[in-house]
Amino acid sequence: MHIVVCVKQVPDTKIIKINPKTNTLDRRSAPAILNPYDAHAVQEAVKIKEKTGGTISVLSMGPPQATAVIKKSVEIGADQGYLISDRAFAGADTLATSYALSKALERISKELPIDMIICGKHAIDGDTGQVGPGIARRLDIPPVTNVIEVTEVNEREKTVLIQRKLTNGYELVQSEMPCLLTVEKEINDIKYSPMPNMISAARYEPIIWAVDDLENVDRSQLGLKGSPTVVGKMFTPPRPEGGKKLDGSADEQVGQLMDILMEKKDLFTLQSTK
Ligand SMILES: Cc1cc2nc3c(=O)[nH]c(=O)nc-3n(C[C@H](O)[C@H](O)[C@H](O)COP(=O)(O)OP(=O)(O)OC[C@H]3O[C@@H](n4cnc5c(N)ncnc54)[C@H](O)[C@@H]3O)c2cc1C
Repeated sequence: MHIVVCVKQVPDTKIIKINPKTNTLDRRSAPAILNPYDAHAVQEAVKIKEKTGGTISVLSMGPPQATAVIKKSVEIGADQGYLISDRAFAGADTLATSYALSKALERISKELPIDMIICGKHAIDGDTGQVGPGIARRLDIPPVTNVIEVTEVNEREKTVLIQRKLTNGYELVQSEMPCLLTVEKEINDIKYSPMPNMISAARYEPIIWAVDDLENVDRSQLGLKGSPTVVGKMFTPPRPEGGKKLDGSADEQVGQLMDILMEKKDLFTLQSTK
């Protein structure tokens, strides 16, 4: 079983500041971290490998310092990691990102055939959720999005049983392998990394590929040149105005809350529990 997890380095959006003049992210204002959804994706690969055995590779596209997220993935339990890094990839939108990553995945699968690709549901900075399905489309494999449980992997039949989250329920899906999953955070809990993993991660040197290391690449589909997306405008949404503050004892606050709800009762359907 060979699982490849796509991992992205992102600024920590809990801390990052927005430049009020340009309305763009001030990337220097926040540390770069492994996209949290991708940490869960790596953890899920580890969980699957515990049952099936095999190899976990991770793949990232980014500047040289993105090796940090590959090392972090090794700390969680990945066996090896690839970074594709080249000026030609710069300025990529989701179309060009999925193209570059799919070319790297083709090269990885020549070294060791891939059974499953796992991505995060979305990256916390770009937040489109398009890259995973984009890769699946380019590699012509089934995408299964919003995965909350990998229920069963049948290596002999080359199938996987998966639970997906829908807006108003759940769906159990059987997919053939190879396939691509995008995972929700609730799929697992990130475990503390054991000390040997930390030591391996500190010593690990990721494999770095430039465009010329990939095969059959159409350079016009890479980076800014291959990115039809145009950002029309960036702006900071106005802060929501604070609501009414409740005070007094807990009973008084419940009373005040009931008054507010009754005032707004046109907006709610109040159902009696009697
Ligand atoms: C015109 C334009 C120019 C841009 N220029 C730049 C730029 O110069 N530098 C820049 O950083 N961003 C740039 N971006 C943003 C860039 O498009 C997105 O960061 C990127 O395409 C991923 O999209 P997303 O963040 O929405 O990922 P999502 O689709 O939300 O991510 C889903 C999952 O896909 C995988 N994934 C996504 N990106 C990567 C990656 N790089 N490596 C490995 N796995 C990944 C992860 O598993 C992730 O959880 C640009 C965007 C536009 C529109």
